[in-house]
Amino acid sequence: MKRHNFSISRRRFLASTVLATTGYFLPRRLFAEEESPVSVIRTAAATARITVQKLRGNVNMLEGSGGNIAVLTGRDGKLLVDAGITASRPGITDALAGISSDPVKHLINTHWHFDHTDGNEWLHAIGAEITAHENTRKHLSVSTRVEGWNFTFPPAPKGALPTRVVGADHQLHLNGTTLRLKHYPPAHTDSDISVEFMNENILHVADTWWNGYFPFIDYWTGGSIDGAIRAAEANVARVGEDTIVIPGHGPVGGKTGLIEFRDMLVAVREKVASLKKQGKSLEEVLLAKPTADYDEKWGHYVIDGKHFATLVYRGV
Ligand SMILES: [Zn+2]
Repeated sequence: MKRHNFSISRRRFLASTVLATTGYFLPRRLFAEEESPVSVIRTAAATARITVQKLRGNVNMLEGSGGNIAVLTGRDGKLLVDAGITASRPGITDALAGISSDPVKHLINTHWHFDHTDGNEWLHAIGAEITAHENTRKHLSVSTRVEGWNFTFPPAPKGALPTRVVGADHQLHLNGTTLRLKHYPPAHTDSDISVEFMNENILHVADTWWNGYFPFIDYWTGGSIDGAIRAAEANVARVGEDTIVIPGHGPVGGKTGLIEFRDMLVAVREKVASLKKQGKSLEEVLLAKPTADYDEKWGHYVIDGKHFATLVYRGV
């Protein structure tokens, strides 16, 4: 029993250490068979450091608890884009208080994944209305299995559900700016929306961009590699040279980074597709190392080259 406890706490310790350096996700080798990344991430988020970065105008970004969180301040109250992990509530609360004293009044979820919606319930409890695409509400409302994470999410508590759902395109006017919420055709999931701060020329592109990392693609709720590429193309076409782009994960960037990411997705897809066309099994494709040219730059986060190639293989 003692040894068992030791191994758990050691694993948690390792998890927290990695979390502090990478943001939140963990290398797959740290996952014990019986433990999903989801529970490890939730636990580790309790000790994660939350950083604040001022972007432009009244928009800041918080990093360190699940997906990147954009914060717009002003007289209408704070608006958050994404909710982080509940275990980081104290760190997020401090970070928000450090930006301004405006109460949190609005929350937008970029998609249904737990690392973007886990904090919905407490943020709603302190006064935030929650806006999301209708598919986010749909997935949060029911029990949802994500095979790729080896995890079944129970239905979210009532207080965590979006209070306003939007369709393809929606605008909000708050704090002296206009926010445009635009749904992507199925990409990373079927619930992804971008959030554009129109006066500030800032675009949050949800998990259609992982800046510097191979992305997860959630085939279990409508995502696909081809959808992910279409979204990456749309992002490149949409932004200007001066647009500040907030990725779902990784540092803030811009058009050059979006192009690089799009090119990586396309190149790996082509390699995997041509091998699969030759009749190769997944095992044979992985042996051919289709991501070899990209592992050094993109493979040091939760999704390594092998995992990414496996996700791509599924969709070509
Ligand atoms: Zn996601």
